[in-house]
Formats: sequence, structure tokens, C-alpha cells
Amino acid sequence: MMKLGIVGWRGMVGQVLMERMTAEADFKHFETTFFSTSQKGETNPIKAPNSNPVLQDAYDISALKQMDVILTCQGGDYTKKVHAELKAAGFKGFWIDAASTLRMEKDAVIILDPVNKNVIKTALLNNQKEFIGGNCTVSLMMLAIGGLLESDSVEWITSMTYQAASGAGARHMNELLKQMKFVTDAVMSEGENLSDQILQVEKNVKVLLGDPKFPKENFGYPLAFNLLPWIDSELDNGQSKEEWKACAEANKILQSKTLIPIDGTCVRVSAMRCHSQALTIKLKKDIPIDEIESMIREHNQWVKFIPNNKSSSMEFLTPEYASGNLEIPVGRVRKMNLGPTYLNAFTVGDQLLWGAAEPLRRMLHILLEH
Ligand code: NAP
Repeated sequence: MMKLGIVGWRGMVGQVLMERMTAEADFKHFETTFFSTSQKGETNPIKAPNSNPVLQDAYDISALKQMDVILTCQGGDYTKKVHAELKAAGFKGFWIDAASTLRMEKDAVIILDPVNKNVIKTALLNNQKEFIGGNCTVSLMMLAIGGLLESDSVEWITSMTYQAASGAGARHMNELLKQMKFVTDAVMSEGENLSDQILQVEKNVKVLLGDPKFPKENFGYPLAFNLLPWIDSELDNGQSKEEWKACAEANKILQSKTLIPIDGTCVRVSAMRCHSQALTIKLKKDIPIDEIESMIREHNQWVKFIPNNKSSSMEFLTPEYASGNLEIPVGRVRKMNLGPTYLNAFTVGDQLLWGAAEPLRRMLHILLEH
């Protein structure tokens, strides 16, 4: 039985991964060791068959080295610290990772098997060992329009994103709640029917967002009643790192012979979970809209094509609908006034499922098949 080491099972991505692996009875295929960076020696709380009763030290290179596969959702700092050391110690197993650290390394494969299973299989035949989950927003976009990409119909894409607070981590989600409470407790302290004075209420909200006691240690700025048009670090070319990932990672996932330019603006919004994106897709030729719909629908079983009408869009094309759901709703699909080769689309998906945990657990099955 394959020896699987799991690091980072306690974080947000890790918890979603544990739920999915339990739901799909994945653990029965492995002898699993749970590691922790902070709780070694404590009782393992995950009730997985064939697993260790006591948590092992996630920095113990000799214990990690005994694994056939290490799957980590611990984060980039852990990968930076441990991966190279483990390789230097002679680790020959597979490394599956949610963090971005190794994604663009020459020998690493970005895994999104409904889109690039052929790339993954080739890499396995070439004895490659590093299989890294893609950026959540990029993976969700590629699943949504996989049919257009696969048929080589796309000249370029712009992606304008609306990314949930949870993309930044658990503390940020909690801070969003605190920010909302800070404002609503104050403005609604004497009643909830404020429509008559709503312009004054808005002025009061603005003052509260600038209050020195307003909770913003994690985001640095108000996200509640606001949005933040920058995600991740600044690059010299004016892009944010998150924006840079779209083109770099999508083309690496596809192993495209000709680069598909992708660019846009990534924005943090106050949704709790699920990333949304508005896409402008420049098609290589004028394709009838019903053919486009079929290409999108038929690419993979998780795409949910939403008819371009108001009620369906409001019901199914939202973070609320997509949360906790493996479906990838895609809608607002229409030709734009810009011309017959310009396609509009809007898509949303759970960034903790298809954007993080799901490609990792599916990679385990690809290894079992190999
Ligand atoms: P996270 O929630 O911050 O968890 C990371 C680690 O923090 C845990 O494994 C845990 O390690 C430690 N930790 C410390 N205090 C904790 C507490 N109170 N509760 C839970 N864990 C605690 O990180 P994450 O959002 O899951 O992200 C993990 C990796 O996935 C990152 O590289 C991230 O970039 C990537 N990713 C995240 C998302 C997303 O939407 N969040 C999407 C795609 C990829 P110990 O148990 O060892 O202490």
C-alpha cells in the first residue's frame, strides 16, 4: 500500500481536502501519516483508516523521507523550508502541493486533470515528481471555459475577478465578519429602518470605516462595504502577482505551443467563499453561440451552463450557489457589441474545492492508476 504523508490538514484547504477524501473513501487506498508543524505528539484527530494515532513532526526529514507521496496544504513557507532539504536527503517520492512556491519550476507540473491529464501522464512517464495545484482563480477559469481552450478557439482573454475573503485565509474571513459587525452594530443601534436617513447613514458608515478602532490588522483596509482592487504583491510591470499568474499558469497548465495572452484586474470583494470572474474572450473566428454553449457544456461534468437570463443568473451564478459545490457555473455567455469574435462570460467556483483541494486528491488517484 502506498505510504501517504499529509501536512496542512488543519488549515482551510486541508479541512476541505479531509472532507472530500473522507466522502470519497480515499484513505482506504493508502497507509496515511498525518504530520503537523505545531502539534507533533498530540492525538491525530482525523479518523482515517490505516492512519497514525499520534501526529508526527512535519519538519522531521527522516520521517517524511519514508513516504511514497507527500501531500501538503501547509503553505509556501513550509514548502520553501522542507522541499529542498528533503530532496537533498534523497527523497524519491511524489510531492503534491497547494502552495505556489514550486509551480513555475521547470520540473513541476501544475495539476488540473480535467484540463491537462495528458500533461500529467506524460510527466509521470518522464519520472517527474512535483505536482502542484494551480492558482485557484486560474484553475476555476480553465474548468469553466475548458471547451473553448481545448478546441483552440481562443486568441486572448481578459479576466476581471471578484475574489472572496477566504482566498486570503481564515483570519481574513474572521476580520471581514468583525468589520461588518463594527459598522452594523453602530449604525443600527437605534433601529433597523433607516431608509429615510440613508444618505446620512452612508456618511456615518464612511466615518466608521476610517475609525482608528476599525478592525483591519489582516486586510490593512476595510473590505466590508468596500472592495480592494489589489491582490498579492506588486510587480514592476504594474500587475499584481495574482494578475501575473493568470497568463503564466494557464499557459503552463495547457503546455500551449502558442501563448494565449491573459490579463485583467484581480479584486477582493466581501464574499466569504468562492471566486467569480467576468471574462472577455477574443475568439479566433466567429463561432455561433449555440456551438460555444455546447463546447463549454461538454468539456467536463462539473461545468453548469447557466442560460443568459436574469433569474437564472441571480440564482445560479453566485458565490452563494457555488459555495461547497463542485459545480462550476458559467453564464452571461453572449456575443459583445465589440464584434462577433468577442465573447462575454461570467463564471464562479469554489476556490477551496476545485481551486485547491480537488485537484490534489484527484492527483492521488492518478498516482494509484500509474
Ligand atoms: P491556513 O488556513 O492558514 O492553514 C495553514 C496551516 O496553518 C495549517 O495547516 C496549520 O498547520 C496552521 N494553523 C495555525 N493555526 C491554525 C488554526 N487556528 N487553525 C487551522 N490551522 C492553523 O492556510 P490555507 O488557506 O489552507 O492555505 C494553505 C495553502 O493553500 C497556501 O499555500 C495557500 O496559498 C494555498 N491555497 C489556498 C487557497 C484558499 O482559498 N485559501 C486556495 C488555493 C490554494 P499546523 O497544523 O501544522 O499547525
